[in-house]
Amino acid sequence: MYKMMTPGPTEVTEAVRSARSREFVNPDLDETFVEFYQETCQLISRLLHTENETLILGGEGILGLEAACASLTEPSDRVLVLDNGIFGRGFADFVAMYGGNPYIYSADTRETLNAEELRKFLEKDHDFKYATVVHGDTPSGMLNDVSVICPLLKRYGILTITDAVSTAFGEPLSVTDAQIDILCGGSQKVVSAPPGLTFVTVSQDAKRAINSRKTPIASFYANLKVFENYYKEKWFPYTMPVSDIYGLREAIEQIAADKDILIRHERIAKASRRAVTGAGLKLYQNSGFSNTVTVFEVPDGTTDTAILKTMLKDHQIMLAGSFDQLKGKVIRIGHMGNNAYQDKMTAVFDALDQTMKKLGISLKDSMRELFLQAVEE
Ligand SMILES: *Cc1c(COP(=O)(O)O)cnc(C)c1O
Repeated sequence: MYKMMTPGPTEVTEAVRSARSREFVNPDLDETFVEFYQETCQLISRLLHTENETLILGGEGILGLEAACASLTEPSDRVLVLDNGIFGRGFADFVAMYGGNPYIYSADTRETLNAEELRKFLEKDHDFKYATVVHGDTPSGMLNDVSVICPLLKRYGILTITDAVSTAFGEPLSVTDAQIDILCGGSQKVVSAPPGLTFVTVSQDAKRAINSRKTPIASFYANLKVFENYYKEKWFPYTMPVSDIYGLREAIEQIAADKDILIRHERIAKASRRAVTGAGLKLYQNSGFSNTVTVFEVPDGTTDTAILKTMLKDHQIMLAGSFDQLKGKVIRIGHMGNNAYQDKMTAVFDALDQTMKKLGISLKDSMRELFLQAVEE
């Protein structure tokens, strides 16, 4: 088996795998499961620093994004889509699919969103029901400062949906301070459980907007309102994936017990960037570096496939390329969650040193050595 050093899915611990294989209760008829589900949700809310209710939905990260848009969008609503990356722009599709009218605010994909420029734009045009913003746009590694952007939008009465699928628990984030109305997370990124679950935190303002809709939500599965009374009625809208939720709970408990998780992500990420630049390779971004993924450009003289194949075949390490407009142009190292450890990343850079050498790409210095020097500072 290879090491999955990709920006999702990430490596899953034995404890999480075992939790998923436990004997399970009937999630429809056994009320202990309703308690277990709610406790898991409350733990997620606590770790994200919010009193807002968390809901876990049976579906991959994308379901959270779609359910948030489906639940807030009514026909012809104007929605501000903040786009400086692939997931950022992608929100426009969900908005349009549910009858909304997306306004795509496009900014440089190599720079973190500039709040001052956004403020100038909002001064002139702020007639939006809600806005979408991506905290960490994983295909390019872009981190946006939602702690500034979301409160700015809120000042204009604009609700916010934040995609934190690849950053939640790996980057400092307080949903309360950032005033995020709906935050979306996923099981297979920093959380380090297998793919299959998404979770959302829903503010009182978002609930009010959902409850005061004039038209019904045009979906059952991608719909946050169907969970409204689950606890009171001890009834889920559909049979919950109980084993997946056992695994998620174990993973979330590991995060809760891991006091150094944010510092470790920061340290590993900084050292990774130093290894890349010190070796003479080029990071994709100019600003807004996420602590969960490092993205560097494929050097002249080779291809992404050659690098990825050599890493996998010779070293049993899987890295990722990217997609859409970044296809073929960059390599991504995922150092989120259970991947964000010094030993795993040392092995990655050691293998990259050898891979580049084999492919005839000369590096200025050893990435492994640069990483080790930087990580120990
Ligand atoms: C992984 C991820 C998702 C979930 O989407 P998939 O492409 O299906 O994995 C959503 N948003 C972001 C920013 C992600 O990194």
